Amino acid sequence: MRLVIFGRQGAGKGTQSKLLAEHFGVPHISTGDIFRAAISAGTEIGLAAKAIMDRGDLVPDDVLRGIVAERLAQSDAADGWLLDGFPRTPTQADDLDQIADPPLDLAINLEVPEDVVVERISSRRVCKAEGHIYTANDPSARSGICEVDGSAVVQRDDDTESAARHRLEVYAEQAAALLDRDGEANGVVTGDGV
Ligand code: ADP
Repeated sequence: MRLVIFGRQGAGKGTQSKLLAEHFGVPHISTGDIFRAAISAGTEIGLAAKAIMDRGDLVPDDVLRGIVAERLAQSDAADGWLLDGFPRTPTQADDLDQIADPPLDLAINLEVPEDVVVERISSRRVCKAEGHIYTANDPSARSGICEVDGSAVVQRDDDTESAARHRLEVYAEQAAALLDRDGEANGVVTGDGV
């Protein structure tokens, strides 16, 4: 199974992706998680991406193309994958068409209204090791220790209100252009994410 999940920030892509990836037995590949791991590891890509991500802007398409091509070529992705956060621009969609072999089976668009997601984003907390997602009131968020892997639970640097609003604006421009262009032709299915 080769899947893509779309949806604005806070739509629940990360949470649903983990469940779906487990269900289909395929790796959950989140480009945001890849960048956050690169930042923690202090790699060159991480250093270059950090400032862009903190502003809520998009990392250039050619960087994404290289990262995704390399990740999909790994052995655990040979029989399928679930992409979360990529593609999110029309150019990235063209790149995925070239990279994905065999091609994508299904793209799911998780729809949640903007006022709902602003609330979700500001209360979102994530664990540093594996990106498990909590809300500010969950025991793991309150204790600051992830109940699954024991790592620190923090607020993402780009989950501040101003960065989050900017990310939503960028999403509205880029991902909407992508869905308008490719949505119907490529059989994107829409799910209610509320
Ligand atoms: P969000 O839901 O806010 O987009 P992600 O974890 O998916 O969160 O991504 C965090 C950041 O990583 C993005 O704001 C962007 O800077 C960068 N990023 C992740 N995926 C992509 C992508 N496909 N194209 C460009 N930048 C990306």
